[in-house]
Amino acid sequence: MTARIVLLGPPGAGKGTQAARLAKRLGVPAISTGDIFRANVAQHTELGRTAQRYMDAGEYVPDEVTNTMVADRLQAADAAEGFLLDGYPRTEAQVEELDRMLAESGQSLDAVVELTADVDEVVARLLNRAVEQGRKDDTESVIRRRLEVYLEQTAPLVALYEQRGILLGVDGLGTMDEVTGRLESALDRQER
Ligand code: ADP
Repeated sequence: MTARIVLLGPPGAGKGTQAARLAKRLGVPAISTGDIFRANVAQHTELGRTAQRYMDAGEYVPDEVTNTMVADRLQAADAAEGFLLDGYPRTEAQVEELDRMLAESGQSLDAVVELTADVDEVVARLLNRAVEQGRKDDTESVIRRRLEVYLEQTAPLVALYEQRGILLGVDGLGTMDEVTGRLESALDRQER
């Protein structure tokens, strides 16, 4: 079975951890736009320079920049049989662009998984991560802005995918293993 899956959810919901685990189990690459941007920042590429300004402020990188990067990544051989997208699409324009990219090769999404978590919990997790990993965009004011941008621009995508009948909601609270278990059973149920 192909697995073309999108993982949606607020910053701090645990998408990165779960995406890596799930991708491994499904045998597809986990593609995290945040990780790709951070790698570009670390390598001082042109893309990294562009992205950094937005990331440091908690704003989204412009759609054209993000879309081009994802289109490139999805053309790599390892994504031919599937992928798990973590952090993309985050805007309606990105949804349209992803639809277009997939349609070009006769593909479509199999599932969109929304990892839910309440705001107090995600802020606490992100502040904790700031201490552990020292990410520059994990300060309290930038975290607040990231959540605002999420609610404004990305939360509406949940309804959009729900209308398409491919949305699976999964509770992101609990231990990492509990959440992984819920994700796996939600996807198994959908398959049947
Ligand atoms: P989080 O979800 O915890 O905020 P990510 O690592 O997924 O962290 O993303 C970090 C930053 O990278 C975002 O705040 C944003 O600036 C940028 N980014 C990631 N994905 C996208 C996207 N699809 N569109 C625009 N910007 C993005």
